Amino acid sequence: MSLFRPLMYQKDIFNINYEKLKKMEIEMLIFDLDNTILKYGDDLPNERTIDLFKSLRKNFKIVIASNNIQKKVSKIAKCLKCDYLYSMMKPTKKIKKFLDKKYHIEFSKVAIIGDQIVTDIFVGNRLGLYPVLVDPICDKDLKITAFNRWLEKRIMNRMKFKKGEYYEE
Ligand SMILES: [Mg+2]
Repeated sequence: MSLFRPLMYQKDIFNINYEKLKKMEIEMLIFDLDNTILKYGDDLPNERTIDLFKSLRKNFKIVIASNNIQKKVSKIAKCLKCDYLYSMMKPTKKIKKFLDKKYHIEFSKVAIIGDQIVTDIFVGNRLGLYPVLVDPICDKDLKITAFNRWLEKRIMNRMKFKKGEYYEE
């Protein structure tokens, strides 16, 4: 299986089949921040997102893992009442250390949810987490992401995997 292939692909975090994840004995959800939880450039999550996290907290341990800086990530995590990891340098395996040492959780019980194949999905597959892809909330992004998007397009073409054709495996 390609390391770039998500096992679940949905339009956004509101359309993810969390019940299925629960049935699969997933205990922890790791969310990407920019363009997954909120629009790149926004400072705070909206009410709908706050409500979603409130209900997810009943069933899962929730952690935001972002490549963004602490100041930004901590503010949003506080608002969503969840843990956070910042400067994660995805797709490196830096997250692994925290899963082992801080959370003591089996990787098969963790889902990673994000909008980028070359960071979120790739690191998820590398570590044996359950990788869930969502479409980016908006097209505006960091400069570095423009390169990732170009790469992503090529990968998606090769995998015969189309944007907007959502699935669950
Ligand atoms: Mg992102």
